[in-house]
Amino acid sequence: MSKSHSKSPTDSRPMTPVNVVDKSHHVQIQIEEDGPTFPKSPSLKHGRPKTPPKKSEDLEITECPFNDYGCDFRSDRHEVKKHIRDSNTAHIALLCENIGPMKRDIIQKIGDSAIKLDEAEDCEFRMSSANHLYSCQFIWPIMDYAEKVRAAKKGTAPVIYSPPFLTHRGGYKICISWAPFGDGEAVREHCSIFVSILRGDHDSILTWPFRSPITFKLLDQSKDKKHLKHVIDTLTPAILDVNMAFLSRPKTARNPAFGILKFVPMRDMKVGGRYLKNDVVYLAVDVDLSGIPAF
Ligand SMILES: [Zn+2]
Repeated sequence: MSKSHSKSPTDSRPMTPVNVVDKSHHVQIQIEEDGPTFPKSPSLKHGRPKTPPKKSEDLEITECPFNDYGCDFRSDRHEVKKHIRDSNTAHIALLCENIGPMKRDIIQKIGDSAIKLDEAEDCEFRMSSANHLYSCQFIWPIMDYAEKVRAAKKGTAPVIYSPPFLTHRGGYKICISWAPFGDGEAVREHCSIFVSILRGDHDSILTWPFRSPITFKLLDQSKDKKHLKHVIDTLTPAILDVNMAFLSRPKTARNPAFGILKFVPMRDMKVGGRYLKNDVVYLAVDVDLSGIPAF
């Protein structure tokens, strides 16, 4: 010691007995000595503990995942994990007990939904049938149209008549008539359409005078069904004394016809046009039954 110090004459300070290393050594010794009083603080400050304590989530109280099947074990997660490992047989027994009723329940539910599906399909079918049956009461195809126009021009048959039909089951018996060359003031210019009320089997139980609006449709036969231009017009009977001959209960085979003189311009009835294809014209008739009481 004295030798080393003699080699550095400039250093006039007195020798200190403990250097830095010694100091740290000293501290280390202190820690080791006092270790038992604060064992965690150094390790938490300077590094990971070698044996980690239980995680906080492991301490949460939870229930066994088989709780729904009847296991009422509850403890912290750690214990529950252990319980799951140790209770296989008990849990399988619980599952077995539950599978029977669950299966019955599922079969019942499948059955119920199949019935509901059947009902919905049946309902849809009825609606679509009703739509087809009642969308309009009558569609009248007028065949050999060119010949009918010629006869109308000549005056041998100015008006052609549809077969009679009922407005609904047990309803009014009516028929449509069509003047291909026009009638009255519409002659040569427009086709005219009319309706007549015929004497029917249900007249005694029907309401008179007839007052249901009637919609006539000349059907567009174009191939492009997305852009059809049917000619549509509605005739609403006016309940007036002067109209009673047309609208009251028929006293003879048929009441006089009433209708729309200028229903469609004759120039729109060109051969091969949208309303006249293959020498056929289609007229649809829709009677609004909303005001008629059901039987
Ligand atoms: Zn359990």
